[in-house]
Amino acid sequence: MENTANQNTCSCQPKAAPEFPEQVTGMYILARALKRIGIKNVYGLVGIPITEAAYEIQGQGIRFVGFRHEQQAGMAAATEGYLTKTPGVLMTVSSLGFMNGLTATANATVNCYPMIQISGATDPTMVDMNMGTYEELDQLNTARPLVKAAFRCSHAKDIPAAVARAYRAAVSGRPGGVYIDMTTPALGEIMDAAEAEKLFYDPVDIYSPVAPNQESVDRAVELIASAKKPAILFGKGAAYAQVDDKIKTLVEKFNIPYLPMSMAKGLMPDDGPLSALSCRSTVMEDADVVIVIGARLNWMLSFGRGKWSETAKFVQLDVEPQTIDQNRTIDAPVVGDMGLALDALIAGLEKKQMSIDPQWIPSLQAETKEKDAKFELRLKDALTAQPMTHWSALAAIKPILAANPDVILVNEGANTLDDTRDTISMSLPRHRVDCATWAIMGMGMGSAVGAAVATGKSVVAIEGDSAFGFSGMDFSTACRFKLPLTVVIFNNGGIYNGVGEPLDKTTDPAPTTLDIHARYDKLGEAFGADTYYVTTPEELSKALTASIASKKPTLIDVQLAADSGKESGHIGYLNPAPLQKITV
Ligand code: ADP
Ligand code: MG
Repeated sequence: MENTANQNTCSCQPKAAPEFPEQVTGMYILARALKRIGIKNVYGLVGIPITEAAYEIQGQGIRFVGFRHEQQAGMAAATEGYLTKTPGVLMTVSSLGFMNGLTATANATVNCYPMIQISGATDPTMVDMNMGTYEELDQLNTARPLVKAAFRCSHAKDIPAAVARAYRAAVSGRPGGVYIDMTTPALGEIMDAAEAEKLFYDPVDIYSPVAPNQESVDRAVELIASAKKPAILFGKGAAYAQVDDKIKTLVEKFNIPYLPMSMAKGLMPDDGPLSALSCRSTVMEDADVVIVIGARLNWMLSFGRGKWSETAKFVQLDVEPQTIDQNRTIDAPVVGDMGLALDALIAGLEKKQMSIDPQWIPSLQAETKEKDAKFELRLKDALTAQPMTHWSALAAIKPILAANPDVILVNEGANTLDDTRDTISMSLPRHRVDCATWAIMGMGMGSAVGAAVATGKSVVAIEGDSAFGFSGMDFSTACRFKLPLTVVIFNNGGIYNGVGEPLDKTTDPAPTTLDIHARYDKLGEAFGADTYYVTTPEELSKALTASIASKKPTLIDVQLAADSGKESGHIGYLNPAPLQKITV
């Protein structure tokens, strides 16, 4: 039969059939798989064997944000996961690059942020046989206990399914970190392009929210409706779920006061009429029904014991059944997706009469008014302190951030964390990112870059000088990518403060001592950022106002007094013993 296709070819030079069908590499397949599933940004640090894969990723129109340290790239991916409810992606090289990134992936798992770490890996058959190969680390088994799921791609054909399954694992149920061991053989393998194309698929119902059972909802509704002094405790799981309207309905329709965990601040306004932020102890002692929404009763909440009333009844909404009863018996668990659980709860409560004690809300409001007035006074007094303290710096910052509510606040440190959380009111959901459940330092620059890249919004990072030291070099990443990030460093010259005294027998600095005279602004200069060195609240006000308006990478070095801040901030009681000189 005549080949019709040939009829249209010109009579000039006949085109030779290609000797090989078009071919693609595993690296290309990885990039296509990420694109196909909707990944917009990949954070990482290249080297053997992932460099070309990163170029392929850029070639697909995905942004590749190259960092100076893998842990920061991972913090960025995790922050994107938290803020967008889709997995952030981290790419690392093998061995130490993998390990550096894994810290962030483990931290994401602990904090329920969806992310996927894809690491270059050496040929596993050689690792398994304990035979000579490049770097020789059994990465898959190292990652496994720290993540929700772990996959290994030994062949290029495995890559699309691994990416789709990793995505599903990261976002479904309780979100968390997922690891893909991307071996050099898989990345380097060549496939027929047409064959490779057949491997891609669109996973069906990738989020698949699961509804709580009606009996559990009815039980919770009964309890809440019978409460005389109810209170809601919001955690970052409630903010993550992006069900802001339902949360607002629950609070406002049924008049329930609320207390947010630090990253849930702003889910409902901190300064709203039902905010019990300033009455934490009263809520713990007096609430008779506590509705825990997307928070865990862990060390940050005294395990639901301590000051919490022994007789209070607890309702808990969470997607993860294993979190129920973990430290305190939960009287009415509602296990399921947050949005569906809230729908069911609201529908149930609409059919009931609430029994709230008419004095409960006014008494919380009166306490709030009194405490807030005292706090205002404290901030006002701090404005005249010289040298500046944490409080004087925060008194300057507070009105500026209040006037720019859509700025995302990243915050880490000890006193810098505690005092900023207490001072800066949030009014919008998912606008505060901090060191969260592990209370670790070293998330700052990565999270700030991730927040700016993922949302396009301006970011202000308020950093202790010690905290900044962990990730400071990645301020240069914000500069390279021209991100609207202002870093404010509270320099009190040390871990906790700069007045630590070494014990006898050494002339070395104390373990807590850093550099009170360091000019962090000069670091910013090296990378072309706008920089300020400020010693008064007025100077800080001007600098921060200008930097937010400019949308340019900016570093503000705030000179504090060396004795501003105390050992371990608010959680000094967790130390095994108070710091003291022991005479033997
Ligand atoms: P916080 O530190 O703010 O108290 P935690 O990280 O301790 O918050 O708790 C967050 C909780 O939210 C976790 O127990 C997690 O299972 C839950 N969670 C996260 N996403 C959802 C969701 N979409 N639906 C229901 N629960 C969720
Ligand atoms: Mg918690």
